[in-house]
Amino acid sequence: MVEDDRAIAEPMIEGLRREGFTVSWVGTGAEALIAAPSDLVLLDLGLPDMDGYGVCRQLRAGSSVPIIVVTARGAEVDKVVGLELGADDYLVKPFGFRELVARIRAVLRRTETQPASPPVEGPQDLGALVIDRRTRRVTVDGEERALTPKEFELLALLAEDPGAVVTRQQILEEVWDPHWYGPTKTVDVHVASLRRKLGHPEWIETVRGVGLRLAPGAPAP
Ligand code: CA
Repeated sequence: MVEDDRAIAEPMIEGLRREGFTVSWVGTGAEALIAAPSDLVLLDLGLPDMDGYGVCRQLRAGSSVPIIVVTARGAEVDKVVGLELGADDYLVKPFGFRELVARIRAVLRRTETQPASPPVEGPQDLGALVIDRRTRRVTVDGEERALTPKEFELLALLAEDPGAVVTRQQILEEVWDPHWYGPTKTVDVHVASLRRKLGHPEWIETVRGVGLRLAPGAPAP
């Protein structure tokens, strides 16, 4: 944040920190130009040592950091000049704090570099048991097992952290409905059929009074 007026800067900084942003604050253009790189610059135009437009131009010359100009100057011509100098957005004082946060988030979203392509998640290999979440296929010792959608989701949930206990409530919330208040018998019925289909009942272990744990065995020799 580049802002010389403490009475404006302090409540903004406090609010932004509450929103989860890390804010560093300088009060002059000269300091802004030598400040450590940041993810976004909030730039006041009326600075004591140099014109904010000059700061904007120089910042932009050396980096592609998003810049939101914050100023009391509201004339249309100022907005155009600010944007032409490379500002990404423009906020005229007085503005609401909600609007500031919305603009910051919008600019960050726009300027975030998009990954070239989403990582391809391969099948999860648990020895004899292989789970492919992309194709929703499950194989045991290389042989495909036809599971119902709920059985698949239940297995995939248990397999997120093999060996860790998942409670019945977690299973109901994630596989069935987040507001499930009914009997937990449903889980047992699906676990029984899943065990039968996998052909290795011992892989899904019941931890009495707690929940379930997936512990698949080694591949068949
Ligand atoms: Ca000022």
